[in-house]
Amino acid sequence: MKKAVNDIDRCVACGVCARQCPREAISIYKGCYAKVDFSKCVGCGLCEKACPAGSINVSEVGNVSK
Ligand code: SF4
Ligand code: SF4
Repeated sequence: MKKAVNDIDRCVACGVCARQCPREAISIYKGCYAKVDFSKCVGCGLCEKACPAGSINVSEVGNVSK
């Protein structure tokens, strides 16, 4: 299943993704960056589309090695 992966170096912690997520899978960790709870994320891609910084990528977790 696809999951949302956040590039914390690009994330500006605006919280837009967290408000978009229908599963409440995203929280802003210590006010610094968006953290995705993979156990809740269903890979819908809404956060990726909404992120103004382009820091979220939704992809198969098996392929996320970078
Ligand atoms: S919308 Fe993008 S920049 Fe804003 S908190 Fe989420 S991942 Fe970070
Ligand atoms: S892909 Fe969908 S379910 Fe997963 S964190 Fe983003 S908005 Fe939430």
